[in-house]
Amino acid sequence: MLNVNPRTKKTLSKLGIQTEADLLFHFPRKHLDFSKTAKIKDLKLKEIATIKAKVISIKRILSFKTKRYSTEAVVADDSGLLTVTWYNQGYITQIYKAGQEIVLSGRLEYFRKPLLVNPAHEALTEETLHTGRLVPVYKLTEGVYDKTFRKIVKDFLPLAKDLEDTLPNNLLNKLSLPSLQQAITNWHFPEDEGMLYRAKYRFAFEEALIQQLAANIHLKNSLTTPAPVIPANVDLVKKGLSSLPFELTVGQKKSLWQIMQDINKPTPMNRLLEGDVGSGKTLISLFAMGLCANTHFQSALLAPTEILANQHYETALKFFGENKKILKKVPKIILLTGQLAKIDGEKVSKKTVLESLLKDKSAIVLGTHALLYKKEYFNNLGLVIIDEQHRFGVAQRSSLKELSGVSSPHLLSMSATPIPRTLALTLYSNLSISLLEEIPKSRIPISTHLISENKRQDAYKFIKDEIKKGHQAYILIPVIEESEDQELGQKKSLLKEFEFLSKKIFPELKLGILHGKMSGQKKTEALEDFQNHKTDILVSTSVIEIGVDTPNATVMMIEDAEKFGLAQLHQLRGRVGRGTHKSYCLLFTNTENEDSLERLKVFMQTNNGFKLAEIDLETRGFGDLFGVTQSGFNFKYSQYMTLNTLKLARKIAEEISAEPNAEIKYKALYEKAAPLSEKIHLE
Ligand code: ADP
Ligand code: MG
Repeated sequence: MLNVNPRTKKTLSKLGIQTEADLLFHFPRKHLDFSKTAKIKDLKLKEIATIKAKVISIKRILSFKTKRYSTEAVVADDSGLLTVTWYNQGYITQIYKAGQEIVLSGRLEYFRKPLLVNPAHEALTEETLHTGRLVPVYKLTEGVYDKTFRKIVKDFLPLAKDLEDTLPNNLLNKLSLPSLQQAITNWHFPEDEGMLYRAKYRFAFEEALIQQLAANIHLKNSLTTPAPVIPANVDLVKKGLSSLPFELTVGQKKSLWQIMQDINKPTPMNRLLEGDVGSGKTLISLFAMGLCANTHFQSALLAPTEILANQHYETALKFFGENKKILKKVPKIILLTGQLAKIDGEKVSKKTVLESLLKDKSAIVLGTHALLYKKEYFNNLGLVIIDEQHRFGVAQRSSLKELSGVSSPHLLSMSATPIPRTLALTLYSNLSISLLEEIPKSRIPISTHLISENKRQDAYKFIKDEIKKGHQAYILIPVIEESEDQELGQKKSLLKEFEFLSKKIFPELKLGILHGKMSGQKKTEALEDFQNHKTDILVSTSVIEIGVDTPNATVMMIEDAEKFGLAQLHQLRGRVGRGTHKSYCLLFTNTENEDSLERLKVFMQTNNGFKLAEIDLETRGFGDLFGVTQSGFNFKYSQYMTLNTLKLARKIAEEISAEPNAEIKYKALYEKAAPLSEKIHLE
């Protein structure tokens, strides 16, 4: 437990800091470069610099305007004199007195004379915390200032030596990585940029290594776990295919073939089916479920939300209803979610479902992920399909095993998050991957436009016109409240913008609101209202990006679009164009940054999610690809991770697991990797 005064303790707990380790791992969000020290005579206007000087005089001044005290000081070094002003900070006169040596970091301004305004300051000691160095700036909360926090961190820093280092010395030496203690120290108070970089790199690498080692353990385990053999019944599949009103895309054919091969083996399939929204993943999964039923195994398709589970259920009823041909014997088609249970389209009690599942050894079940924990329902599960797999970070693979009874079921996860192939192959070294790169030709492409601010009213008019035609629209705003982002500047916030749009722009329309801070039930309601066309426009943050399907929506308007990575923008755009109507994506931005504008241009011209993700990876690294909202990857340090970090981690993980007695030699590493290897797909 953290030994600080009760008030500070309470404030720190708001930041999630309970223990000394929590404190030490609360890393700065950035550093201010106050490392350049200069002589007073060499200071340049508007430049940030640090000076070491002696206080000549220091006094309080009462401001006429604000009725508050400021501090004015004159300081000197051997090159000259300089005036310093701290506005509204009269208390500084009590900290320093004439004759004392101090360090000041700040920007030189000019008000009638050269003046250092509100500089960071501290008494000159051997080691500075707030000036004269790379100074850490933290994500903090009310009641604690950077200066206080720095001091606390500094006080507790020596305890870093007591924390167990996951990486053993031989590895640190081999890869020239800083030890845990060094890395913690250097991330908070780096001597220079290079040290800071190495510190961040170490944590990113460590995280990647644990993940890769977990993948390795998982792969080894699954090769020795038995799974039901589900023979590929090519004739039945062909019959099923011929009854479809369209042809499969090349990717679909290949993926279906790969899945058929996998489930025909006595070890569990562990495959990721990746494809953009609308690329036809569900269809492929239904074929696999059909094959499973034919071999008298149950299968389950799990979706992240009730809404999606219902959608899948309707699709499955239709598919198996029309495609009796691909089933030798028609099994029960069951829906099971938190709120609803159905068998073959009819509402039933959960008890009935339970009984039915005990009898029907080849039932096809569609539901929400909560099903993973309902062991009592299943006894003969041969195949589990998880839609939008990255939402299932917590699901344990062991619970899958228990669902099956005898052996481990095959596992197929489906994701619309386009992870570039190169990355996916490295990241998921324990997975097989199928990609659906094309979208069926029948789709009408979405047209994407970057709209300049002076055309904003036209865009609103366009939305009104679409709604008059009976369609719906999304308006997306990245941030919920202004306080969330200190550097928000002129950016919009959801709560304010919702008011504005409801009252001023679309007073005659029904607007819904959706954001991550709403309760689960409120969120579901907002989505359902939109889906049932009780609302015309859904004003939302990026929480809508995954899985929601409202084919009637034809406009996706995105504010401050430069805030998103390309892959994420693509996900958002994928919310429209799902029906039979032409759809539009309207982008707004205030940025003048050339790179950002260039990225948005690329986005307008590219409809391939994998390509966009590849560009993200190259230009912005992992940070965006697995950004806070989109990610299922619980990489804490993804921002500092690159493809090369992962590749190196993979190589080292392989070397380590090949060493005799690796579990003992790398005990701390294995202790972290082993539990992770139990998680589905390790995300
Ligand atoms: P996903 O789950 O990948 O988002 P779906 O499987 O829901 O995509 O497919 C979207 C729609 O496209 C469905 O209506 C489906 O029937 C249809 N579809 C699937 N494959 C094809 C294809 N090869 N050609 C035309 N339409 C297809
Ligand atoms: Mg889908």
